[in-house]
Amino acid sequence: MAGRPGTRTAARRRPGHGRAAGAGTALDRAAARARPGRGHRVRNVARAAGRPADGRPAGRRGGGDGRPRLRRRAGRAAGRARGGQVTPTNTILIIDDSPDTIRLLSAMVREQGRVLFATSGAAGLELAKVQRPQLILLDVEMQGMDGFAVNEQIRRDPDLRGSAVIFVTAQSSPEAEIACLDAGAVDFIPKPLNAAVVQARVRTHLRLQAALTALDELANQDGLTGLYNRRYFDRQLAAEFARHRRHQLPLGLALIDVDDFKLFNDRYGHQRGDGCLQEVAEALRDGARRPGELAARYGGEEFVVLLPNTTPDALERYGDWMCRRIGALGIAHPGASAAPHVTCSIGLCALLPGPDDTAEAMLHAADMALYRAKRAGRNRSVMAGPEPQPA
Ligand SMILES: [Mg+2]
Repeated sequence: MAGRPGTRTAARRRPGHGRAAGAGTALDRAAARARPGRGHRVRNVARAAGRPADGRPAGRRGGGDGRPRLRRRAGRAAGRARGGQVTPTNTILIIDDSPDTIRLLSAMVREQGRVLFATSGAAGLELAKVQRPQLILLDVEMQGMDGFAVNEQIRRDPDLRGSAVIFVTAQSSPEAEIACLDAGAVDFIPKPLNAAVVQARVRTHLRLQAALTALDELANQDGLTGLYNRRYFDRQLAAEFARHRRHQLPLGLALIDVDDFKLFNDRYGHQRGDGCLQEVAEALRDGARRPGELAARYGGEEFVVLLPNTTPDALERYGDWMCRRIGALGIAHPGASAAPHVTCSIGLCALLPGPDDTAEAMLHAADMALYRAKRAGRNRSVMAGPEPQPA
């Protein structure tokens, strides 16, 4: 299979695009979790620094959307939840201003995951942002920023909200316990620490976290193709749009529609139609190679791909390349108007989002471009913009 033109050079030209990987997205968190063992820490740190960790060309890194990965993640998370088996992919962060308590706690939970620690609220928050722990054991009584203040920041920050907080405190009155739970913590561990109690609570909440992650992933997935669904896409588009506006980066969007699909269904039946959509989805997923690229089923036979930090030229190359790839699947479709096999039309929009631009308008522009691709004879990609006038 021919490589995607321009991808590697384009990736190289843009330092920091690794960060476009949707650092801060659920996908990113889940992906980080799904990569146990080798290089885990290095990769996270590298991501925070905005560069690839392992020296592979960015264009080849499988950081984009992927059904197999999505399913694998969901499966693994579900497995963890079902079996209650705690894998080394769990990360537990201890934030406590007493080194003695940190030593004691880490000895208690070290079998249950990778243990990180910080001795102040500020340092803990920094670490949590990079490492995305499943669980944070948070001391309530700390010098400077106390546990409640740290917890409030965690709850407020979308990058941190995915971590469950268990308060650790010497205050054991019912009022103190209620205050912890009301603040949004999932649980409460009293001091003095009891190893069995700590382990049981940590185990329970790691299981719950895994189940929540699996549910979250299923809720974001299209049942037929395994790509992300429209709900998830709309959310990611809004987030990426805001991010690209903030950093003044060009955002690319491709709307992909299978040509004459109704005819295909009428001729071969819905089962073959479903198979066709699955093959097209696979091509799109496989084509989303740069970190942060995201392919979703938009509805029916329509798909959408989000391409962070992508120039108009690179987006145009992507569109042409994807048209050829889908044609090259060679799915017979004798009744189609553009070729005797399944083809697709693609509407493209590349935008450096300004203050008045919106994600909805961007989608609309791509939709108009898609319409023009259809009208011009299908099996092609068209860039949004003013329609060329006939000479
Ligand atoms: Mg303390």
